[in-house]
Amino acid sequence: MKSIRNIVVKKTMPVLLVFLYVTGCTNSYNLSSNHNADSKPNVNWRHIDSIDINEINSDLVNGKPTVDIGIYFPSNLDSTFTRVTLNKMIESFLFAKKIFRPTDVQLNLLFAKTGNVNSSYLSIQANEVPGIPETEYVNLYENSRRHPSIPTTHALDAFRSIIEIDTNNSRTIYLIALQDVFYPYLTLSEGRNWMMKTVRTGGLSFPSYSYVDQIPKELRGVITITNLSTEERFRKTIAHELGHKLINVSHEYNDVNPGFEVFAEGGLMLYGSGEDIPSGKEGRWHLERLHLSPYLYKIDESGNKIWNDDYKEAGHYYDPIYDNNVIHFLPEPQINDDW
Ligand SMILES: [Zn+2]
Repeated sequence: MKSIRNIVVKKTMPVLLVFLYVTGCTNSYNLSSNHNADSKPNVNWRHIDSIDINEINSDLVNGKPTVDIGIYFPSNLDSTFTRVTLNKMIESFLFAKKIFRPTDVQLNLLFAKTGNVNSSYLSIQANEVPGIPETEYVNLYENSRRHPSIPTTHALDAFRSIIEIDTNNSRTIYLIALQDVFYPYLTLSEGRNWMMKTVRTGGLSFPSYSYVDQIPKELRGVITITNLSTEERFRKTIAHELGHKLINVSHEYNDVNPGFEVFAEGGLMLYGSGEDIPSGKEGRWHLERLHLSPYLYKIDESGNKIWNDDYKEAGHYYDPIYDNNVIHFLPEPQINDDW
């Protein structure tokens, strides 16, 4: 903890002040334009000078599997919003580095930037209300492949305005601090009736097993972060969301089949304090799937990034890149057989 605190923004400096310094800086390099389709103003992103990227990345080793991650932190969050601060974001990122260390996968912080985001994008609905519930004929992953989540136009516009164009867009993870990201879903009500609920997410990874080919490739690396306010959340949230993206699984662990919300201890991919990324069939191939992720590369002797193979079928759970590193399981019926 101590060493972590030393390299993030000085604790004594209120975050608001940091932004004043940043926005007052005339030497704002790397002001790149965005591909915003709806002609709303683009964000003029500026590097946050108080964050020492080189120091944060000083433990990286060439030749090890690596993920590139950028952080976008809006400078115009409402003053009443305190669930995500820049300090918490960086500290949670540093925890994620630690949590992934036993897997040999290292997290490379590409940048941390701030700027004025269109305020209508601070709160978004992630996906359209689904029309077809998960019934008992195929499991969650097979159902997601047939009926992927569909991101809302508002969410896609937001990400287009925020994420800068880059040749490696589809291979990069973007952690974006927002105030509210709602995720609507269907849940059994009673009898043979389902109802729509919407969950206020603390982090949302827009994973390929769920969105498959419905999210544009250049935006598929997005992860929204909306609540790091409790101790557990701020330690585990970024690592857990990275797990969804990089392992490409839902909430599951060893003999626990995936579910929408699974509260149990042990695994990084459950709601609980666990941080384990298990291997082998008994570990649902989490470690193996992580190492096959298209977001990973290794640097060769000439300094080139050698990327893993890309998804062959847009990254559904059973995408051919995973070969046998998949679990076939039967769905559990949610309603009585005699309906
Ligand atoms: Zn989750």
